[in-house]
Amino acid sequence: MHRITLERCSGCRACENVCPQNCIRIDSNRVDYFEAVVDEKKCLKCGKCKRVCPQINPPEKNSAIVAYNACSSNGALCMRSSSGGIASTLYKYCLERNIKCIGVKFDNDLKLSYQFVNGMEDLRSFAGSKYVHGDMHNIYGIVRDEIKKGKKILFIGLPCHVAGLLNVVGPNDNLITIDLTCDAVMMPSLFRDHLRYVEDHIGTKAHDVRFRQKDNEYGLTVVNDRGNVVYKKDAWTDEYMLAFRRGIGYCSSCYDCKYATDKRCSDMTIKDCTMPANEKPRIKLYYRASQVLINTEKGRKIWDACVLNEGINCEKYSLDKIIRAEKRFRYPARNVKGNCVFRMLMKVLSFEHAIRIMYPLSGVFKEKIERGEK
Ligand SMILES: Cc1cc2nc3c(=O)[nH]c(=O)nc-3n(C[C@H](O)[C@H](O)[C@H](O)COP(=O)(O)OP(=O)(O)OC[C@H]3O[C@@H](n4cnc5c(N)ncnc54)[C@H](O)[C@@H]3O)c2cc1C
Ligand code: SF4
Ligand code: SF4
Ligand code: SF4
Repeated sequence: MHRITLERCSGCRACENVCPQNCIRIDSNRVDYFEAVVDEKKCLKCGKCKRVCPQINPPEKNSAIVAYNACSSNGALCMRSSSGGIASTLYKYCLERNIKCIGVKFDNDLKLSYQFVNGMEDLRSFAGSKYVHGDMHNIYGIVRDEIKKGKKILFIGLPCHVAGLLNVVGPNDNLITIDLTCDAVMMPSLFRDHLRYVEDHIGTKAHDVRFRQKDNEYGLTVVNDRGNVVYKKDAWTDEYMLAFRRGIGYCSSCYDCKYATDKRCSDMTIKDCTMPANEKPRIKLYYRASQVLINTEKGRKIWDACVLNEGINCEKYSLDKIIRAEKRFRYPARNVKGNCVFRMLMKVLSFEHAIRIMYPLSGVFKEKIERGEK
């Protein structure tokens, strides 16, 4: 067995999906990395895996054409979403026009993966940012088949996953890609460990998890099968969210992210609204605004149609100011020193124990935590 990438594999599975010999397996350790493991006995050395790898060969990137502050005019969609409910509004617009939509949602075992949105009632499961890596499984083949049949697809995902998809499927008028500005994601193994710990603690099975609940922003909220909140801790007292905000336990590829730039592979980019302290969006908001960057003519077309038909509240806003305010348009997450200590502690301790040793006073002093390195 040969390991083709170590430190920087983002676990996107593009290589696994194109390998004609089916001889790549995506592996991960418990703490910080994915890796693609190749069975050399079967490998033909055809190079397809490397060609589609978004960490080795990023697809063509474009500078944004124009940017907006925006908020859905549908209050219910906004309240379920992380910022202005724009992703959910784009899904709604596309579903009404028979365009198939893909995003991430938790399955019954609370494993996060890319899936089709099954109608309007399903929108709720896709709304909101989930701070964990989502599995791309065989979504590449599914998208390719649908496109071959002449179907249109809207794909919303993390920039490295959009890039993997574009590398495999190739640019196509029927594929609309939207990426999120991405700070970083945590390893799914850490999320699973923590969820088991929470379930033991509350004595019941978790049915749903929310990371950006309006009354618990960046905290962790867990709901049981009757919709009751059974666990709610803020970003200083929940160990998983504390680690995320401190820059601990990210997938190692995030420290070498090829997509932490204002040049984008997608047709459109959505992000939280960040503006200078003396400025506010001048549009009607239900909660918060999103910012939307239009990167291609295809992106502009769908955005204009969606604004018109869904009545999105939006105003043009300075691209320069957005780029200046968003660190992930300028550089990737920095590997904070605490990660060395974390890796050592994780050899002998549980995740929660390790984080509590590292941040014993968190929750006592609720200082303003910025993600990672700021
Ligand atoms: C891991 C992560 C890090 C982020 N970092 C930043 C940042 O540093 N700066 C910033 O401005 N914005 C960041 N965002 C984007 C921001 O949090 C909002 O997702 C964005 O503003 C869209 O909000 P909305 O209300 O329009 O979308 P919503 O209607 O809330 O929809 C959310 C969309 O995001 C998708 N999604 C959610 N979680 C994931 C995931 N783990 N993997 C793939 N797709 C996912 C859903 O499928 C859905 O399409 C991040 C999002 C994520 C998921
Ligand atoms: S070189 Fe070709 S056969 Fe070998 S692992 Fe890569 S895609 Fe598979
Ligand atoms: S980043 Fe994706 S394509 Fe590249 S080695 Fe990892 S799983 Fe394979
Ligand atoms: S930070 Fe970069 S590598 Fe990490 S999940 Fe986000 S887009 Fe992918």
